[in-house]
Amino acid sequence: MCGIAGAVAQRDVAEILIEGLRRLEYRGYDSAGVAVINGGELQRTRRVGKVQELSAAIESEPLAGGTGIAHTRWATHGEPNQSNAHPHISTDTIAVVHNGIIENHVKLREMLKGLGYCFSSDTDTEVICHLVHHELKSHSSLLAAVQATVKQLEGAYGTVVIDKTDNERMIVARSGSPLVIGYGLGEHFVASDQLALLPVTRSFAFLEEGDVAEVTRREVNIFDVDGNAVTREIKESEVTHDAGDKGEYRHYMLKEIYEQPRALAHTLDGRIAAGQVLDSAFGDNATKLLKDIKHVQIIACGTSYHAGMAARYWLEDWAGVSCNVEIASEFRYRKSHLFPNSLLVTISQSGETADTLAALRLAKEMGYKATMTICNAPGSSLVRESDMAYMMKAGAEIGVASTKAFTVQLAGLLMLTAVVGRNNGMDEGLQAQITQSLQSMPAKVEQALGLDDAIAELAEDFADKHHALFLGRGDQYPIAMEGALKLKEISYIHAEAYASGELKHGPLALIDADMPVIVVAPNNELLEKLKSNVEEVRARGGLMYVFADRDAQFESDDTMKVIPVPHCDEFMAALIYTIPMQLLSYHVALIKGTDVDQPRNLAKSVTVE
Ligand code: GLU
Repeated sequence: MCGIAGAVAQRDVAEILIEGLRRLEYRGYDSAGVAVINGGELQRTRRVGKVQELSAAIESEPLAGGTGIAHTRWATHGEPNQSNAHPHISTDTIAVVHNGIIENHVKLREMLKGLGYCFSSDTDTEVICHLVHHELKSHSSLLAAVQATVKQLEGAYGTVVIDKTDNERMIVARSGSPLVIGYGLGEHFVASDQLALLPVTRSFAFLEEGDVAEVTRREVNIFDVDGNAVTREIKESEVTHDAGDKGEYRHYMLKEIYEQPRALAHTLDGRIAAGQVLDSAFGDNATKLLKDIKHVQIIACGTSYHAGMAARYWLEDWAGVSCNVEIASEFRYRKSHLFPNSLLVTISQSGETADTLAALRLAKEMGYKATMTICNAPGSSLVRESDMAYMMKAGAEIGVASTKAFTVQLAGLLMLTAVVGRNNGMDEGLQAQITQSLQSMPAKVEQALGLDDAIAELAEDFADKHHALFLGRGDQYPIAMEGALKLKEISYIHAEAYASGELKHGPLALIDADMPVIVVAPNNELLEKLKSNVEEVRARGGLMYVFADRDAQFESDDTMKVIPVPHCDEFMAALIYTIPMQLLSYHVALIKGTDVDQPRNLAKSVTVE
């Protein structure tokens, strides 16, 4: 789930690998480790906590060697302690790093114990290194032993294996967890994300599902799931991001919040012409594939799910097609109904979200008319496996709590609404309004960022709070959900979101002076209804923070703080009201002193189910 880096080179690689891990830190992890082959021996250093601790340990006791593997672990099996940290080693010979989950590890562990192997960790991963060691007894090469091993593994893995008796090679295998090979001059690398390798190369080949590769200093030989030699295209990376650069900002999250006007301008670039959203925003074959769409099924997790929830209002209200939105982990394990002429839309920043990817594969088997992904990572699994891709072009998002990816997803989904709507008879006036709104988003977000100071002040009120309630109606209900999620993720305050109409069906019982209530209140046709909900809270002594349009006529008093949000149209209101929600959670987290960019227990790219 977290990070892998590996290298076969002539020079010492420990520093390169540690820098690689640093660049993957944003994904969240709990421990880190590295192993190199030095003079026919494996040298390993592992630490619980940050990569910095590992780096300090290696500085005081340097690791020399040109072949090595490194890992940041996000514990799935066994607590985050040093003996569970990767790399794992079998019989002092085979070292392994692994991202993912081996589902049949209990059975394999019993079998290997029966063969006399001793386990030194509680991880599922450790079965891989013993299994490779065992298979080497009956196979002539490390490659063949790893190929025989992966055939016995059930679950998801990106794994790299080295053997101390052969410092010339590493074997790399992928099934379910992404891996990319980096090509250098007389040296090769592997990582779970190209970002990790940008200091040493810009040439990359992405492994496909089931691939096993033998990587030496001079050669990379890739074999598919059936063992056939295959070529995977080597591409020059266009990623410009330097993961070490927070610029003037204290945190990546703040930087990314402030990058939103630019990210939105970038995502719109070249996708609107003559007042219309171009079909080509969704890929070359979009005109044909989107032609007869009558139903949209959106699948996503976490923040991306909230973007999908907002889009449901738009697709049904404005595009005139029916739309369902479902959490990927639910969709993939139930029998759902396939409507005629259905488009499946997955949303994922990383393009590697395990549940979303599994849902896409299921949908393809079910016979959806077309599949589309809204994704920020070129070359990722979702992009490769979908018929169409809306590439978000938001730039790398490093903060674990998603911000700019969310607003760019909203913009992409509004464009989809325009295109699907056009195919279903949306009138030209409405289309023009939507495009105008899209084009004025960057400037409007810039204005909304002007709320920063006022929100920083207001955040003080939350310093001693343990709970918060978020309310919204219509497409602001998912924005309330996103606001609650952001607050939970980075400040660890328990937060819930409700559609305001639900208040009296339960949550009203929670209202007292200790429960701040955050209300998102643009000036739309639901405003009067929302005002009644506000009165219901006021009557029960609740303290409210109302983010409201200047024309909504809310006034601050003892029980209510009103924060005026720049006036905006209904097409962009969800997006604009997201900005103060992001800023609120950021400032509350600052006051609480949490690790804003890498909140506890969370990972950025959720490549395990
Ligand atoms: N399941 C493995 C473990 O718990 C790997 C976790 C990861 O992907 O970091 O050690």
